[in-house]
Amino acid sequence: MGFDVGQFMDADTIQAIKDIVGEENCSTKVADLYTYGFDASIHHRSPELVVQPRNTEQVSRIVRLANERLVPILARGGGTGLCGSAVPLAGGIVLDMTRMNRIKEIRVEDLYCVVEPGVVYDRLMEALAPFKFSIPTAPGSGEACTLGGMVATNASGMRAIKYGAIRDYVLGLEVVLASGDVIKVGTRTLKNSSGYQLERLFVGSEGTLGIITEATLRITPKAKKAAMIIAAFDTLEKAGKCVSRIIARPLIPSAIELMDSTCIKAVNKTVKAGFPDAEALCMIEVDGDPATVEEDAKTVLAICSEIGAIGVECSSDLEQMAKWTYGRKSIMSSLSRYGEGFVSVSLADDMAVPISKIPEAVVAFHRTAEKYGVIVGTYGHAGDGNLHTKMLLDPTSEDYWRRGEKAVGEIFDTVISLGGTVTGEHGVGISKAPYFKKERPTAWGTMNVIKKALDPNNILNPGKMAQWEGSILRMLRYPCDKYSD
Ligand SMILES: Cc1cc2nc3c(=O)[nH]c(=O)nc-3n(C[C@H](O)[C@H](O)[C@H](O)COP(=O)(O)OP(=O)(O)OC[C@H]3O[C@@H](n4cnc5c(N)ncnc54)[C@H](O)[C@@H]3O)c2cc1C
Repeated sequence: MGFDVGQFMDADTIQAIKDIVGEENCSTKVADLYTYGFDASIHHRSPELVVQPRNTEQVSRIVRLANERLVPILARGGGTGLCGSAVPLAGGIVLDMTRMNRIKEIRVEDLYCVVEPGVVYDRLMEALAPFKFSIPTAPGSGEACTLGGMVATNASGMRAIKYGAIRDYVLGLEVVLASGDVIKVGTRTLKNSSGYQLERLFVGSEGTLGIITEATLRITPKAKKAAMIIAAFDTLEKAGKCVSRIIARPLIPSAIELMDSTCIKAVNKTVKAGFPDAEALCMIEVDGDPATVEEDAKTVLAICSEIGAIGVECSSDLEQMAKWTYGRKSIMSSLSRYGEGFVSVSLADDMAVPISKIPEAVVAFHRTAEKYGVIVGTYGHAGDGNLHTKMLLDPTSEDYWRRGEKAVGEIFDTVISLGGTVTGEHGVGISKAPYFKKERPTAWGTMNVIKKALDPNNILNPGKMAQWEGSILRMLRYPCDKYSD
């Protein structure tokens, strides 16, 4: 693995950091260190120090010190990452960015806002709502994830098919480099051709190239109206065909979500989502001005019937749409309560394939799950080809993990052979690292060259992405002797 694991902090370094941010903004308490060793992935490793900086100058001074003393340092937002990107693998310092949470400017006439990285996505949407503006990427974790974390992972969500990912909204960034130097990249203008688009370099960099301390983000007017259609099918293939047929019409809905029968049963059981009991279901949202919404909803309903939907419901009632959306958002937690002794783990959970390959991919995933005796629930943002496959397994069983890992390898081989990517929106971190290298055989070396140029001492979130080597079954958060932290 391309990093050292060990003890990096000494009393002198801890004191120097306390002098920068104040003692009350640092912790070495075992409980805090343990807590900051998690994100929402399967991995865990405690850091040696947690620091809550309040401004760019403090971040710059801490990073400069870490660089001089060769201490690993990891920026953390909401800790909602699903692939271990916010787990401090090497130990060292976790910089909790959530205290840098000011919305600095909202300029609707210029179509941008300026935020600190610790602003939570939903809080920004609440601030933009009175102006009838938003950033419509809408991640499922919006109530907890931060804009800094979203930029660092190129997050998106169910509306990416029409509105894109967060990278499409990044106009400019302020970044603290590994040297401690502060740079401004990008602009406050909607267009810029002024040289390398460096702001894009930091999108998806997962804290390995620099620490984002400010983001200038494009904002866009909210749609006036929306309607939702729930269509049930007796096969997954028909649901997949429905997605492709809608898009090819051409009609670009604001969301097309797909769920298989395992997911439908799980949310109906745990949150009483009230979805029809079927082999597969599509949840389609159309938005725009009222006349367009009405026309698009009619077109979608006609396509669902052409494909042979066994049940269709349509609503523009805000309460009903919120209930369906809540059902969809509850899949991940519901799957964990699906079977006694099983938990839902994020293994192979975020692939994307060309949209027309969805039916083929989903059928192949189910075949693989059967072959290795694991349960796989498949759902996702089918409209943009992004699928989530949560694996249900007994996390204390070495045998389950081994079979799970084999299934993951086969699932990702399928994805790559279909022209897809191992991660559509969650990032690489640890859990996808070996498969990402397989997907990008000619690119990951170049990524390491860029990393070395910007972070020669490898202090920024070391060991992740292209630096990871070997199996993903290490430093697991679960009590499984062979693989645990
Ligand atoms: C229930 C649930 C639903 C989810 N749904 C979605 C979804 O719909 N779409 C989606 O894209 N993701 C989703 N996710 C994954 C996750 O929420 C996103 O990856 C999110 O962008 C992470 O943001 P965060 O603030 O929690 O970042 P963290 O998890 O804290 O960190 C993620 C990465 O960003 C880096 N980072 C954080 N802040 C900074 C900074 N200031 N500077 C540099 N690097 C930084 C970290 O080092 C780490 O590498 C979901 C997660 C959960 C638990």
